[in-house]
Amino acid sequence: MPRYPRADGRLDFKSLTLDEIRAEIEGVGSEDFRALQAYKWVWQRGARTFAEMNNIAKGARATFEERFYIPFLECEGVLESGDGTTKFLWKTEDGWQIESVLIPDGDRLTLCVSSQVGCAMACTFCLTGDLGLKRHLRPSEIANQPLQIRAGLLAGTRITNVVMMGMGEPLHNFDNLVAALHTYLSEDALGFSHRRVTVSTVGLVPAMRKLVDVLPVNLAVSLNATTEAQRSAVMPVNRKHSMAELLEACRELPILQHKRITFEYVMMAGFNDSMDDAARLVELMRGMKVKINLIPYNENPAREIRRPTDARVYDFQTVLVQAGVQCSVRSTRGIDISAACGQLGKADPRSATDWFARVRAQPGA
Ligand code: SF4
Repeated sequence: MPRYPRADGRLDFKSLTLDEIRAEIEGVGSEDFRALQAYKWVWQRGARTFAEMNNIAKGARATFEERFYIPFLECEGVLESGDGTTKFLWKTEDGWQIESVLIPDGDRLTLCVSSQVGCAMACTFCLTGDLGLKRHLRPSEIANQPLQIRAGLLAGTRITNVVMMGMGEPLHNFDNLVAALHTYLSEDALGFSHRRVTVSTVGLVPAMRKLVDVLPVNLAVSLNATTEAQRSAVMPVNRKHSMAELLEACRELPILQHKRITFEYVMMAGFNDSMDDAARLVELMRGMKVKINLIPYNENPAREIRRPTDARVYDFQTVLVQAGVQCSVRSTRGIDISAACGQLGKADPRSATDWFARVRAQPGA
């Protein structure tokens, strides 16, 4: 696993697993105990320095300081939507901008996390795809998003769900994603239940198989079409891993024994929203325990793609539901701050407000 050393040779503490940290401090004495203490300080208490870890002996703290640094993302601003959705703009150490979106929905508070700077998948309906891939995010950058946002939430408020659906194709950054997910799921770190963590993918079939072998998280597959030609037209990945290959792999995944796979279906007017599409979708889903998420397209000036009418979405959903397929329509959130699906990467940071300071200034914070 990469350790992302700085020029002074110190390693990125947050990109390492607990075992890797233990191995790095060999010789300090009580490595197991010290490593666990520092790990909890960083992931559970949000420590910014080793100096503040006041229950760790001074000598051991000095060793940590010598060998590691504790990275954070710089928050460049926060955009708040009228519907309660909040978008965070982060700057990485080397100056790239990434985004996370926090979405309140009843008793759920879902965080949509980025896994790459830009994206290589070039789905035609998605603005993030226009950026191309700049670089993969490090494990620390993927895990710092919930850690840093959590620190700004009011007491008693917590992020209940995490979806890897922000900028990037998570499975294209497989090793770093898995390392970060270990941190998400570890009770000594972020402590999310695997039932509450979902990884979205365009269908990188070999990586999907590998992921469900190593981690029990939920899977969401971005389908968006009902024929091979249609899917290839909007998702170049289909030319490498066809829809037939993808659906066959989904049918065989061991995940199906205890979880449903979610299929995301971005509905684009006049392209994939006909009643024939709905009927084909029913057929494609046969034999799988699935949930379909219909996402009416979020229009933007950079695309000519139109959003279907509400009536069309309803009729489409009705065909699926009447055929016994579990299906919901995703409500559009954060449209006024470019935080909706497929819009990340085009925000204007000048309109940011100091969300963290304001939340902390609220009574009871
Ligand atoms: S939809 Fe996802 S995978 Fe496709 S280009 Fe956008 S970010 Fe990348």
